Parts: sequence; structure tokens; C-alpha cells
Amino acid sequence: MSLKLVKAIRLCEVGPRDGLQNEKIILTAEQKIELIDRMSEAGFPVIEVGSFVSPKAVPQMADTDAVFRGITRREGVEYRALIANARGVDRAAACGCTKVKLNVSASVSHNLANLNCTPAQSVAGFAECVEKARAAGIGISGSISMAFGSPWDKEIPVRDVKRIVDAYLAVGIEEISLSDASGMAFPTQVYDICTEMQHCYPNVSWWLHFHNTRGLGIANILAGMQAGFTRFDASFAGVGGCPFVPGAAGNVATEDVLHMCEEMGVATGIDLDKAMAVSRRIVGLIGHTTDSYLLRAGKSRDLIRELPTGQIKNQTQI
Ligand code: ZN
Repeated sequence: MSLKLVKAIRLCEVGPRDGLQNEKIILTAEQKIELIDRMSEAGFPVIEVGSFVSPKAVPQMADTDAVFRGITRREGVEYRALIANARGVDRAAACGCTKVKLNVSASVSHNLANLNCTPAQSVAGFAECVEKARAAGIGISGSISMAFGSPWDKEIPVRDVKRIVDAYLAVGIEEISLSDASGMAFPTQVYDICTEMQHCYPNVSWWLHFHNTRGLGIANILAGMQAGFTRFDASFAGVGGCPFVPGAAGNVATEDVLHMCEEMGVATGIDLDKAMAVSRRIVGLIGHTTDSYLLRAGKSRDLIRELPTGQIKNQTQI
């Protein structure tokens, strides 16, 4: 028996937003532009450039407008940004950003405590963003964080997540990301939920977004692929975290996902060596090591070389 696998996936590099927003060192717009241009040159089809949110809340993303103005747009690459409200759409339109993403937490208690409304009510309030985005010719998508579990709830029932999906569809958003910001998802759960979502909402363009907090990120991606999902977020060198979640780690490292895909014959359209070079550059810029297996161990194929005769003679292999 062999794994049921998709032939190709579409990867979004979220490092410039989800990764860098959690770093102490704030990169300059020029440094971000260099990284993003190198990513598009490496073949990334989608790049999350930054966010249009309050600079007080997330100072690392204060210059997203300048970054959008400075990047060299490559034909066919989708450059997207995270927004929190209609003001975000205005900022996107002003600097030529053509794709925005909204987010809501699937945790009812989290949403009630922070915003005094249910997640579905939050999404209903996004109608204004959709209208503004349409008028400006900007594509709009939605994300559901804590879709697989949250630190504030015993469980996130799938029917609660479906209620949020229904709310997104009701305001006209048909591209939806299921996000595990808390790093609590596990492969069989991912497979079951993704299969259920595909079945109930075959017309939604689904994305999956996993943080590697407990080392299950890449296994969750594989489980998503088995369920037929083809769009995944990842972060260069695995940088990132989540300010609200205790012990949170970054997204699955982009190069680790690319390497797995390359070994399994799943097409990504991305040059792994170039992607690794970008990840090494980001590690240099932030000044600390990250959770990337590939940056530590290199590609499996790079190990395969002629063994000089006699080298392993008398060595016990265990
Ligand atoms: Zn995230």
C-alpha cells in the first residue's frame, strides 16, 4: 500500500509576516525587500509580505506599506498581507497590495473575552472589508486560527469551525485557511477535519497553516496532503511563534517542507537550494539559530557520495 498523495502543492512563504512579527530584532524595509525579492526569484508562488495592523501592537510590521512599494513584482506571484479591519484594505489599496487576509479565532471564549462577540459574529463584521476590497480590485481571503485546538477551550468542536466557514461564505470569502497557531493539531485529526471540510465545502479554496510547536507540523502537512489539500503555509528557517500562546514555535520550516516534497516527488515549483540560501540569510539577520532541520543537517541527497575504499572497515554499524 502506498500513500495517497497530491502531485503538486502551492506553498505560501509566511516568514516575512508570521516569522518576523515575533522577532525581537526589527528588520529594515530594505532587508525585507531583499528577502522577498529573493523568494520570488526562488519560485515561491505566494508570499505573505506583512500586515496592515496597528504599528503599536506589532511594530515589526509598521513598514509593510514601504515594503510593498519597494519589492520587484514578479509575474504570477501573489503578494498578500494580513489585515484586521477595513482600514487595512485602505492601506493595501494605497501601496498596490492586491491580496489581503482576515483572521478570526475559532475559540469562542477567546473571542468573547477579547472582542465581546462570537467568532461567527466577528466574521459577519468583515462584510465591510469585502465590499471595500471588491471596489478596489483586491482579492480577499480568511483564516481561522485555533481551528484544531486552543489553550482556552477543552476542545474546538468541528461544528464551531463550520459555523465560521459558513460566516465567511456568507460575506463572500471563499478562500479559507485552517490555522493551528497553538500547535495542538495532530495528523489523524488533521486528516479527519480536512476530509470533512472537503466533503462539506468542495468549492472552498483551502489553505493549511501549522506551527511546529510540538514537532508535528510536517506530519500534519502530510496528513493534509493525504486528505487532498494542496495549499500550505511555511516560514523560512522556521522563524516565528505566537505572542498569545505559551511556548509557541514558528511555522514548519519552508525548506523542510520543500525537501520532503522533493524526496516524495510532489512538485512545488520552488528551487530548494535558493530557498535554503534565503533561510540562511534570515538566520544571519535575526542572529540566532532556528528550528530548521535542513539548515542543520543539509539535504539527504548531499550525503550520497562515493565512499573511499576501506573507510568503514572494522566499524560496527548499529
Ligand atoms: Zn501563524
